[in-house]
Amino acid sequence: RIVYVNGEYVPEEEAKISVFDRGFLFADGVYEVTSVLEGRLVDFAGHITRLRRSLSELEMASPCTDEALEAIHRELIARNNLTEGVIYLQVTRGAADRDFAYPAEGTQPSLVLFTQDKTLIDTKAARDGIKVASVPDIRWGRRDIKTVQLLAPSMCKMAAKAQGADDAWMVEDGFVTEGTSNNAYIVTGDGTLVTRNLSNAILHGITRAAVLRMAREAQIKVEERPFTIDEAKAAREAFVTAASSFVNPVVEIDGVSLGDGTPGPIARRLREIYIEESLKTAT
Ligand code: PLP
Repeated sequence: RIVYVNGEYVPEEEAKISVFDRGFLFADGVYEVTSVLEGRLVDFAGHITRLRRSLSELEMASPCTDEALEAIHRELIARNNLTEGVIYLQVTRGAADRDFAYPAEGTQPSLVLFTQDKTLIDTKAARDGIKVASVPDIRWGRRDIKTVQLLAPSMCKMAAKAQGADDAWMVEDGFVTEGTSNNAYIVTGDGTLVTRNLSNAILHGITRAAVLRMAREAQIKVEERPFTIDEAKAAREAFVTAASSFVNPVVEIDGVSLGDGTPGPIARRLREIYIEESLKTAT
């Protein structure tokens, strides 16, 4: 596999980053994951807009222009013959002598991209749904910034797996924040789609924005508000969204089956609409 590191396309074994890189020492970096269908990028503009916001919230310099970032994505798709999968992009503040303060003289940011072959459309999770377990949300207070400090969600996911679930739904003060790498939704008894409102408590999902727009266009009633784990267990159906998995039905929460225990109709419909539209609009 060919990866991109600071201006060069190299075989992955040859890629090098400084041990003083602040991404390595402080998790001082941000990232994006864009899905690729038929060799084209899904919602690339949304990912670039969010990347710009993450960089600006951390006062981090940009490594290059949007056009250059797009060109690197396309070059990696071509070099690795990627048809279906994801492209991971990471920007860190770069190398500096170890100090908590950002270097006053500034740094040259590091830019790394690589591709991952991955089946996105025809997956077991989409067919059968996933099981989630509730786990306390132990992350920091700026979850709206897509940083590379992912140990807390890793620990949450491991705790969920230890309980036999596929993923965690992280819970704070009784309310679900989100999944470890996805946004969380329920459908109430009267057919209303509920997902947590945007704030610093969750990542502002690019897929979330698209799916909520599609739900409204399909005349599904949408409420953006926090919901409790108890409300979720009593829901008619539930699902999660992320760029790398689209819409995945949730069929069990803490061992409680939702509905008849199979993927719900609204989750299945939104997944279908999302894939159909993404295939049409991917660039
Ligand atoms: N929430 C968290 C914590 C995530 O890490 C992600 C994506 O990786 C999402 C939500 C979904 O965001 P997106 O739809 O932009 O992939």
